[in-house]
Amino acid sequence: MKIRGHHLLCMQLFKGEGYNDKFTEGMKSVIQKTRASGTEVEIITKADVICKNCPNCIGENQCRLGTKDVDAKDKNVIEALSLQGKTYSYNELRELLRKKMDEATFDRICGTCRWYKAGLCSYQAFLDSFI
Ligand code: SF4
Ligand code: SF4
Repeated sequence: MKIRGHHLLCMQLFKGEGYNDKFTEGMKSVIQKTRASGTEVEIITKADVICKNCPNCIGENQCRLGTKDVDAKDKNVIEALSLQGKTYSYNELRELLRKKMDEATFDRICGTCRWYKAGLCSYQAFLDSFI
């Protein structure tokens, strides 16, 4: 399965809120599939299986909320986790997030996002997701 970099954070913090029902159901399904044992995940920097169900996906790799911004978020996550161009299991990715995502990096990546500004995503919620 191909997942864009910053969606690793979104999947970790997802609480059932979304842009519409299709998006929310799609997100739940992707999270479930990703967590299934044996699923290999490749981290990419373009539209993915989550974007496919999103009303903000407005064409080939274009995001209504800011294509450059979401692309930069992807790259920042890949850099922060030192991801190599290979596949990972969900547990491996989760462990890398837990070990390598510090507060300053999280805030830099998520600070421009509406869900962060609305208080639904925070570094504390990110930490809590590992408990
Ligand atoms: S603040 Fe935005 S980019 Fe960050 S985890 Fe939440 S939804 Fe994803
Ligand atoms: S299209 Fe944009 S807002 Fe929608 S899931 Fe993809 S990156 Fe997120």
